[in-house]
Amino acid sequence: QKQIARLPEWLKTPIPVGENFKKIKSDLRGLNLHTVCEEARCPNISDCWGGSSKSAATATIMLMGDTCTRGCRFCSVKTSRKPPPLDPNEPENTAEALSRWGLGYVVLTSVDRDDIVDGGASHFAETIRLIKRKAPTMLVEALTGDYAGDLESVALVANSGLDVYAHNVETVEALTPEVRDRRATFKQSIAVLEAAKAAKPSLITKTSMMLGLGEAEDQIWEALKDLRTINVDVITFGQYMRPTKRHMKVYEYVKPATFEMWQQRALDMGFLYCASGPLVRSSYKAGEAFIENVLK
Ligand code: SF4
Ligand code: SF4
Repeated sequence: QKQIARLPEWLKTPIPVGENFKKIKSDLRGLNLHTVCEEARCPNISDCWGGSSKSAATATIMLMGDTCTRGCRFCSVKTSRKPPPLDPNEPENTAEALSRWGLGYVVLTSVDRDDIVDGGASHFAETIRLIKRKAPTMLVEALTGDYAGDLESVALVANSGLDVYAHNVETVEALTPEVRDRRATFKQSIAVLEAAKAAKPSLITKTSMMLGLGEAEDQIWEALKDLRTINVDVITFGQYMRPTKRHMKVYEYVKPATFEMWQQRALDMGFLYCASGPLVRSSYKAGEAFIENVLK
């Protein structure tokens, strides 16, 4: 509670409104889809779901259950060494529900499943193939884990028919050991993004970083250089928000002007586009951004 009282003005968000938002929300009822947007009470829901049109509207769906085999110190997802098995009907059911929902851009993400041989890559890829079969005009972004460095799994997902391959480095290299699960490293994440591009060079690759964890400016620079070296196309920056007292503390609330500065620097370095702001999440208005920057 104390922390909420200290939130700067720019992090206080209005309640979702807008006709497009209401329509998309009512369409969702009965489809049995679990959106991260609703479950994480994401503050951007009216911007993403109520974008300029339904064809640009974006939602994020979580696949492969609600329990992760990893425990990153910024993340509130449940953790277990042996989560329940995958639902074999999930690819078909998700594709069917999404095709009926009919939004323009979907981000599929998942927990990490180090307990499964391929990390769930074939399940993820099958879901994408079925979505593209049932709803060929829907743009699909996959936001995956690092598959424990198994680059064949990365290639399997990259070749499944998706439009954007996203994998988040989350923070600068120096802070990675304290922020992410010990099985994740910055270099491994770079290898994942590089492998996705190599598997299908026409793919857009994308990553995201949280600011406010104590990262230094030169460390952000280094990360951006590493990402451009392997031709990552898109980057987003958002503020780290502490989900509960058991998670890492916020080191600072980064000012909106600083987010704007990083956006400009990223564009100057050759990133195709960059969403950057205190409330930005990696999927923030991803559909509109893709349509404006890639399709035009
Ligand atoms: Fe959903 Fe992502 Fe947009 Fe939040 S930022 S509303 S999780 S699509
Ligand atoms: Fe959360 Fe992803 Fe880390 Fe799992 S791997 S704890 S879902 S951030």
